[in-house]
Amino acid sequence: MNAAAHAPSKHAPSKSASVEPAPVRPARAWRPRRVLVTPAALEHAHGRAMLARAEHLGLPVERLAANRLTGLRGADPRRAYAEAKATLALVVAPPTKLRLQPIPPSADWRFDLAEGCPAHCQYCYLAGSLSGPPVTRAYANLDAILDNLAGYLGQGAITSAQAARAREGTTFEASCYTDPLGIEHLTGSLSAAIRHFGAWEAPVQLRFTTKFSAVAPLLELAHNRRTRIRFSVNARAAARYEGGTASLDERLSAMGAMARAGYPVGLTIAPILPVPGWQEGYAGLIRDAAAALAGVPDLDLTAELITHRFTPGSKQVLQGWYPGSDLPLDEAARTRKLTKFGSVKYVFPKDLMQAMRESLTAALARDLPAARVLYWT
Ligand code: SF4
Repeated sequence: MNAAAHAPSKHAPSKSASVEPAPVRPARAWRPRRVLVTPAALEHAHGRAMLARAEHLGLPVERLAANRLTGLRGADPRRAYAEAKATLALVVAPPTKLRLQPIPPSADWRFDLAEGCPAHCQYCYLAGSLSGPPVTRAYANLDAILDNLAGYLGQGAITSAQAARAREGTTFEASCYTDPLGIEHLTGSLSAAIRHFGAWEAPVQLRFTTKFSAVAPLLELAHNRRTRIRFSVNARAAARYEGGTASLDERLSAMGAMARAGYPVGLTIAPILPVPGWQEGYAGLIRDAAAALAGVPDLDLTAELITHRFTPGSKQVLQGWYPGSDLPLDEAARTRKLTKFGSVKYVFPKDLMQAMRESLTAALARDLPAARVLYWT
């Protein structure tokens, strides 16, 4: 997969009137070159089901003798990266994954169905959080992961505590460490989670963000409007940074299909960058999203606006993964900030932040007034 294959024309004009009707099949579903299966994963019905999917697809499966994944690093980091990105491992999530962490400002809690993603985004947010080669690990102990959520009902500091978002209930974010839709054809985990929340008679919401579009298996699920799918989108000029994802038009069409299937939907506009012509670029994106959602009955739409930032650690990882990238990562052009945990991050200067915020929120108010803006960061 390469960036160009997924990039619509870099500076294509906005096509508000011509967003294609929903192509709910994936443009290209990921086919890992290697599927590793641990013995522990096969002790779980979901692990065996994922293995059956891999075998059905004719993928090369290696049954490991032990539960640790070893030998992934290699001497050449570029090669290790490429091999890891082509590898799916079926494993059991460690016990720490069952102690949920808060995830402000998005949701009360994050939980993980998997870790890692097969796409190649040069600004991937996982660069700052994953350690080691980016193998995609899908968790076999799905029942335990989903059953564990009940212990967090009614707790949390975001939607459970904020009057403005109280109607969302207790929220659980499933895309902090993976893109669950990008691997759904191999795991089925996302569908299981949607069904779990659909059957959970309580004020709860499953949330996830995706840069993929293969939503066909989700459309008929009994979601009971307790899952919000947000599509991670950017100005068209940023498409060259997104390798291996669905195209923007595919994502917007998938958003329309999900909204018409009754799902709450959202736009995660991220990471916002001052690409050439950014004002019109983001305004065009918002017009295209509005076109994709035109006529949806009972539309429940949110927008999350996330500017680009990096840390010394994420910059180092991304420059190792994508040495030829022209993604702007110059500290001198940024404002240095300390996170509440005392680590350093680089954000855009205040004046630029303000200009981008005003421009995007004005475009949303003008062209997509149905969108409730949850936060700007
Ligand atoms: S789709 Fe998301 S998780 Fe996957 S590589 Fe791109 S930014 Fe990272």
